[in-house]
Amino acid sequence: MKQTTQEKPGLQNDAPDADGRFADFGGRFVPEILMPAIARLEEGVKRVLPSDDFVREFQRELRSWAGRPTALSSAPELGRRWGAEVWLKREDLAHTGAHKINNAIGQALLARRLDAKRVVAETGAGQHGVATAAACARLGLPCTVYMGSVDIRRQAPNVARMKMFGAEVVAVDSGDATLRAAIDEAMRDWVSNPVDTYYLLGSVVGPHPYPYLVRELQSVIGREARQQLLEISGALPDIAVACVGGGSNAIGLFHEFIAEESVRLVGVEAGGTGSQPGEHAASLSRGRPGVLHGCYSFLLQDADGQVLASHSISAGLDYPGVGPEHSMRRNSGRVEYITVTDQEALHALGECCRGEGILPALESAHALAGAKRLAKENPGAKILVCLSGRGDKDLDTLMQLGDGECLQ
Ligand SMILES: *Cc1c(COP(=O)(O)O)cnc(C)c1O
Repeated sequence: MKQTTQEKPGLQNDAPDADGRFADFGGRFVPEILMPAIARLEEGVKRVLPSDDFVREFQRELRSWAGRPTALSSAPELGRRWGAEVWLKREDLAHTGAHKINNAIGQALLARRLDAKRVVAETGAGQHGVATAAACARLGLPCTVYMGSVDIRRQAPNVARMKMFGAEVVAVDSGDATLRAAIDEAMRDWVSNPVDTYYLLGSVVGPHPYPYLVRELQSVIGREARQQLLEISGALPDIAVACVGGGSNAIGLFHEFIAEESVRLVGVEAGGTGSQPGEHAASLSRGRPGVLHGCYSFLLQDADGQVLASHSISAGLDYPGVGPEHSMRRNSGRVEYITVTDQEALHALGECCRGEGILPALESAHALAGAKRLAKENPGAKILVCLSGRGDKDLDTLMQLGDGECLQ
């Protein structure tokens, strides 16, 4: 079997530099008052993450509680329809229904080792809030989740799940009363209790060391997928595809393949309903670099640098920023980024349901729609898709659309 990337010497740009930069991107654009908390976190990450003790504990929780390794499924009907060989990495089978649990339990274990007395988190659609609330319940850590009041109304079942796990859900009415405002509020909480509080961020975004930390925890996706694919089929994929919101499931899948030049890596952004501002969430395809939530990266902004509203039918992709490592990979050309529309995602979702008996999350349906396009352009290619989560949470949205939308 081939070496893993970790063993490969001379891998460029694998870790961010001392300032937390991935080439031009990343860094720590935070108020001075937050620096001690961030410095403490960075020290903790450096010390704890590589320790054998932590690695063992993390692996044990992933296996015995979070349901890893998740399956790798062949998708013969999608393959037949699209004219390619399609493989699905089944993060929908992970505990709480998506890849987010890998990061949540990993950081909760880190928080406990750093002697945190409580955890705060932000959530948009509620998926990260649910994963965090579950991980904190598992480890006996009190948990407060900040959530925009608009999102609280839209995502009632996830609010209920968080409460069942004993989390306190705090409504945020400021700003846009959605994810962006919730992140601001969680950071404010962290600043006011920096010693006892651990801020558990949900994607490869935010100030250094979060983009690095979350990548390291999510890279289990690609490590497993690579090993499974080699065992079952004897070869690496030609193309690996994942959807990109903040970018954690995509980085988690891609990381293991970055050094494999034969593997094309493709990130799929939410093209929404059109290419005008406010109609999509395609930060890498249609944005330009700027600072959001403590990090310099591609961003949807107007001519004056004001952050623009984003749109996607999938709440988990509806974020105007993106992780800095993706910005670096975009500019270096190692990863390609494409967009698919709401409509294309819905069609791919329907095909996956009826063809494979799997209801994917709307986010993951974007990766499937991207894979479909790539299959048509590359007949016979072996395509590995990160099916980042299950779609049960999206049933309300899907039912409101009526029958026609997902059927083709
Ligand atoms: C949150 C979420 C995403 C988007 O987040 P990333 O950090 O880009 O992975 C994608 N898929 C599912 C199922 C999600 O819940």
